Amino acid sequence: MAHRTNPFTQELIETARRIATPGKGILAADESTGTIGQRFSKINVENNYENRQAYRSLLFTTPGIGQYISGVIQYEETLDNKLEDGTSLQVVLQREGIVPGIKVDKGTVIIPGTDGETATQGLDGLAERCKTYYEKGCRFSKWRAVLKIGPNTPSERAIEENAHTLARYAAISQANGLVPIVEPEVLADGTHTIEECAEKSQRVFAAVMNALHIHGILFEGMLFKPNMITPGISSAEKVSAGDVAWRTIQVLSRTLPAAVPGVMFLSGGQSEEEASLELNAINALPDVKRPWTLSFSFGRALQASCLKAWQGKHENVQAGQAAFIARAQANSQATLGQYQGGAGGEGASQSLYVSNYVY
Ligand code: 13P
Repeated sequence: MAHRTNPFTQELIETARRIATPGKGILAADESTGTIGQRFSKINVENNYENRQAYRSLLFTTPGIGQYISGVIQYEETLDNKLEDGTSLQVVLQREGIVPGIKVDKGTVIIPGTDGETATQGLDGLAERCKTYYEKGCRFSKWRAVLKIGPNTPSERAIEENAHTLARYAAISQANGLVPIVEPEVLADGTHTIEECAEKSQRVFAAVMNALHIHGILFEGMLFKPNMITPGISSAEKVSAGDVAWRTIQVLSRTLPAAVPGVMFLSGGQSEEEASLELNAINALPDVKRPWTLSFSFGRALQASCLKAWQGKHENVQAGQAAFIARAQANSQATLGQYQGGAGGEGASQSLYVSNYVY
């Protein structure tokens, strides 16, 4: 096993545990320049360096945020961002006790000959990039693989390809001191039932775990970032948060080693409120074994109300921060199964779904 000789082994275990502290979760703020541009266009904010820096400064300087957030995933550009007084955003995070992280994949491309299925790029030069990110203060990384549910998908070819690249990425990341967040996102696009999502997600997660074993990954020093198990977004099937919780735990308990300290779910286009309620149900479900911390690594479901309140205006920074911390607190409570619902009012229930989502 590679980790027997990896000088970072102890540090990886400690970092992964710290991020998976119950009551805390991850803010995914690693939108690529194109993706943040789509968010900004909805609030008529120009997508330039200054505005991106101002927005991420707003998020990171939210008073008290370290109480609910243990890690932030960033886009490369943010590593060099500074507050107006010249303080590095990395220092801002560290002062709050938040672990800085970085997205290391380079997006997806179509696998020729498949039904629009994708492979994730970014292995070339990854070791060197991880070294640089470590030097800049990052202690964890994220790689997003995307699978989709359809009549003939996910295909064995797409599952194999994505399991293999996730494992290669995780090994390289661990060898360079960064806790890998292994993210096989089975998209919610489609008309499928919750059962089909469970069946196909189980196949994907099992293949990913197998590849992680083959590549000698230190399970204690990684985190898993899956989709919750839900019906397709265009499915007529209606399910409760309890159904989602039960199916999600069933699939995880069949595939994910107890050695992994934390499951940090993506929100995948669910509304802010829906994501919080389902995470809460996952943690409140009676009579099930939960050997991992079950927490969040939300992008859209932590930021939607914040962006709306901010509108790119300096005078709205506090309103944006108030919206952000309300969601962070709701999700923190949800990791403990103590969220009662209602944070953020009506606006928090709007769907954040984007078809064929690109991060
Ligand atoms: P969403 O929570 O918006 O799905 O994004 C999380 C993420 O990091 C996807 O890679």
